[in-house]
Amino acid sequence: MRAAVIESVGRAVVTEVPDPVPGPREVVVEVAACGLCGTDLHILQGEFAPRLPIVPGHEFAGTVVATGTRVTEVTAGDRVAVDPSLYCHECRYCRTGHNNLCERWAAIGVTTAGGAAQYAVAPVANCVGLPEHVRTEDAALVEPLSCAVRGYDVLRSRLGAHVLVYGSGTMGLMMLELAKRTGAASVDVVDLNPGRLETARLLGASAAAGAADELDRPGGWDVVVDATGNAAAIQDGLGRVAKAGTFLQFGVADYATRVTIDPYRVYNQEITITGSMAVLHSYERAAELFANGVLDPRVFISDRLPLERYPQALEQFAAGVGRKIVVVP
Ligand SMILES: [Zn+2]
Ligand SMILES: [Zn+2]
Repeated sequence: MRAAVIESVGRAVVTEVPDPVPGPREVVVEVAACGLCGTDLHILQGEFAPRLPIVPGHEFAGTVVATGTRVTEVTAGDRVAVDPSLYCHECRYCRTGHNNLCERWAAIGVTTAGGAAQYAVAPVANCVGLPEHVRTEDAALVEPLSCAVRGYDVLRSRLGAHVLVYGSGTMGLMMLELAKRTGAASVDVVDLNPGRLETARLLGASAAAGAADELDRPGGWDVVVDATGNAAAIQDGLGRVAKAGTFLQFGVADYATRVTIDPYRVYNQEITITGSMAVLHSYERAAELFANGVLDPRVFISDRLPLERYPQALEQFAAGVGRKIVVVP
């Protein structure tokens, strides 16, 4: 089959690899579309994946074409979105409900072969069936949405909060949409890229600006979400949290990124600084949000490129052009 392969640090190609074979409790999915995200760039830079080469792609959906000997839940022809999370279910973190912090954390497309390929293998337990009106190729967006749902689980956002989101790429826009649906009084969005702000406005941002200084909230925001991973944005955002407010580190920063905090203010104003990592018991719920039309996956997709152009898709994503880019085998 054809597959994108990150061969070594900085080098991605599309090449021929062996067809995947399902284990007893696994299925083979013919991939309809696979999304790219910051994690793929981190893998390209040599972070996250314990060993290269790897077939990337942790955001994908498709049609089941083969099932393992002990699979009864799905059959060939079923359309599914695939939760990439692979937990051990045995370590201290798994056993205390923090599976996404698993000591043996692994994920399809991060540590094992992923969905940027014609076919991908996945445990049947990771497959979520799709209703008729959700197109398979749009369901690649369930995974990023499930990360955003996890973000709101961490926030336990209260009704009437004023929310500020840094970044209006796919993740920032999803955080904006979910803020509105969890009862925020206002949701402001900051992004250096004016083209991206336009989408934030279309999706109902209260205000969208190139910098938080342009927004009028001198007391700060109850909830500040970084969806950029960028040091300057994070540093700025930490200073914008209102008294008793919460800062959520949602974007993935480089390992070496450092920012400063103001411990007196954290103490004196009871500020919470927290983070949310990937997916935790949130994949099904993200699929429900699309299935029930609460969110429309199509608004987040700006480009659909053929799989053969995976390296160019990575470059385009790295350049910050567009929103969600998916490759189509
Ligand atoms: Zn991702
Ligand atoms: Zn574990």
